Amino acid sequence: MSDVTIPPSDSLAVLEKQRSTAETFGIPLAVLLEITHRCPLQCPYCSNPVELDRSAKELTTDEWKKVLSELAEIGVLQVHFSGGEPTARKDLVELVKHASDTGLYTNLITSAVLLTREKLSDLADAGLCHVQISFQGIEEGLADRVAGYKGGHRKKLEVAKWTRELDLPLTVNAVMHRQNLHQLPDIIQMALDLDADRLEVANVQYYGWALKNRAALMPTVAQLDECTRLVEEARERLKGRLTIDYVVPDYYALRPKKCMGGWGRQFFNISPAGRVLPCHAAESITGLDFLSVRSNHSIAWIWQNSEAFNRYRGTGWMKEPCKSCEFREIDFGGCRCQAFALTGDAANTDPACALSPLHETIFKQAEAEAEGETSRFLYRNFAGGTLEPENDA
Ligand code: SF4
Ligand code: SF4
Repeated sequence: MSDVTIPPSDSLAVLEKQRSTAETFGIPLAVLLEITHRCPLQCPYCSNPVELDRSAKELTTDEWKKVLSELAEIGVLQVHFSGGEPTARKDLVELVKHASDTGLYTNLITSAVLLTREKLSDLADAGLCHVQISFQGIEEGLADRVAGYKGGHRKKLEVAKWTRELDLPLTVNAVMHRQNLHQLPDIIQMALDLDADRLEVANVQYYGWALKNRAALMPTVAQLDECTRLVEEARERLKGRLTIDYVVPDYYALRPKKCMGGWGRQFFNISPAGRVLPCHAAESITGLDFLSVRSNHSIAWIWQNSEAFNRYRGTGWMKEPCKSCEFREIDFGGCRCQAFALTGDAANTDPACALSPLHETIFKQAEAEAEGETSRFLYRNFAGGTLEPENDA
């Protein structure tokens, strides 16, 4: 799962507008299912936690089916099968079929490298509605190096072609950083050539693995400005042909993003081991007890009543400067995981905010890293990371 930008389908977006989840904490319409952390790729910005769930901990096929049935019962309309690499699970077709039978819209978020045409066709027959494929660049040399997986880029292009041949809608997800931002114009063209409906230009968000790799990934201000200009120009030029979603890194912003639409307000995901989380990175915050679907509680109960979901809901938990800030109901103080990672206290103001006492220090550090020489990656894996060989960087 390269990132967690999850565009709702158009019909869901309309429904979303009609319902004020922020007021009611109603069950989200779409849920991310990280069905495994196993993945043949080793992206240095992977949004999975640094402490990955091993396969022995993963929910069984029957447990995932029970989760899917429960989600459909409580009003969820859409599920994203993600990971790790969801196709690493042998039961994916069975899970998609079950989701489809319960009336859920299904999206597959994949690196694509394990797919065969037959498997993709089986998934389509099982009711799969949409495919999102992540790309690391525009050509094999860089893309395979970023992914730490030889032959990956070529395979992704092939699977994207099969996806459209099977008449499945396609989203191209491109995670951008200092070492591939220069390829953005070609990435936009690649999305067009692949007949994608949607392109996500997602600048790396710096938690977990990406935070460990920040010095090798952080773009310069000039690169980001150019990226924004290119996206705006392409959006205008390609209106009606290609929808472009754009995620900016908040390090260079003055105000933080409204992370996940606010903690426990619009989103939850379920980890491979079944823990119900307010965001994919939430387990990086120590001291919070995230309940599992294996507990005695229902998913709806966990969403509404669990201590972890309620800890940072609303504004009552805030410290200054958020506490008395006019934007507190707009951005909810930014990202709790980023606040924890950079300040050691998840209740602090996200340092991406210019009003945080740490903002300037962190911005200057990031700026220095962006201008620095570091280009070697620490690859993501179950062993806690492996440094890229010096000659490859
Ligand atoms: S290593 Fe890459 S492809 Fe695999 S889950 Fe992480 S981001 Fe996705
Ligand atoms: S101080 Fe807090 S609420 Fe105000 S803009 Fe910054 S992060 Fe948002």
